[in-house]
Amino acid sequence: MKLSVVVPCYNEEEVIGRFDEKIREVLGRLAVEYELCYVDDGSADGTLQRIRTLAQQNGSTTRYVSFSRNFGKEAAMLAGLKEAGGDAVILMDADLQHPPELIEKMLDLYQLGHDQVIARRSREGDKPLRSMVSKLYYRAVNKWVDVELTDGVGDFRLLSRTAVDALVSLPEYNRFSKGLFSWIGFDTVTFDYRNAQREGGATKWRFGSLVNYGIDGMISFNSRPLRVAIYAGLSLAGLAAAYALWIIGAAVVGGVTAPGYVTLVAIIVGLGGLQMVMLGLIGEYIGRIYYETKRRPHFLVKETNGTAPAHHPEARLAGRAGR
Ligand code: UDP
Ligand code: MG
Repeated sequence: MKLSVVVPCYNEEEVIGRFDEKIREVLGRLAVEYELCYVDDGSADGTLQRIRTLAQQNGSTTRYVSFSRNFGKEAAMLAGLKEAGGDAVILMDADLQHPPELIEKMLDLYQLGHDQVIARRSREGDKPLRSMVSKLYYRAVNKWVDVELTDGVGDFRLLSRTAVDALVSLPEYNRFSKGLFSWIGFDTVTFDYRNAQREGGATKWRFGSLVNYGIDGMISFNSRPLRVAIYAGLSLAGLAAAYALWIIGAAVVGGVTAPGYVTLVAIIVGLGGLQMVMLGLIGEYIGRIYYETKRRPHFLVKETNGTAPAHHPEARLAGRAGR
């Protein structure tokens, strides 16, 4: 069998050399046929030069694709999966937070017939606040979404050829891969590993992007939030009706009193806020529809030594029509 390792890289010049060395050492020990698929996600540092050098040194076992700009990790993983030719594909970060030693275990589980072998990390070494927020988030989100999302489960996993083909066949523009992995299903097994720290360089996550990612997770996989909007509207209308009846009743019994306007202001502002949230929610869905209808490619390739085609919109449309 042949194993492909897909590595999205964005500004990883500091660690990519060490990563390459370490992974080749592990793969060499396992004596499997392998290829490394590096995807340079429009890095602004020397990452591409490093990858080029690695490809020159290691000829047939190194493929790379370089994007015309930063398209994000989701796009980079997709490009890597498309490029990978192996019977099994492992997705790994370039920063050595995903320990290469675990590959052996993944292969063992793959050989037992599993299509997805997932490595779940512990939250050791994370900031306590961040891991608490994550825990709460996953608890909440799993009530909402149709697919199962698990805390600590990221992109580090082995996929069989069947699973890879399934993933690549999903054409959507807004890719939330935690959801997609779960959506495709197949025979899945999970094991735990100790979290490792980045070996160099810096994380690309900021607090804001984490929040946005969280919102993506909530609405990428269903329209249930819209249903919640309907329920919230109905219950508020019900409450308002009950309150009106009560006021009328009180006026009939005790005559008209003129209670404070504070209640009024609070209700108006509260409802205004709620309406804004609901509008934003609907806007999110419409925005997604807008992006999907444009049918833009997920990424543009600037340079490659593999098979990824340069993207021409016409070629893409022709390909779609043929499907
Ligand atoms: N990455 C990427 N494109 C991006 C951001 C990140 O390809 O726009 C890659 C990055 O090079 C790394 C992996 O995705 O290999 C994970 O990124 P990072 O380590 O910053 O995330 P964290 O481990 O902190 O969640
Ligand atoms: Mg990392």
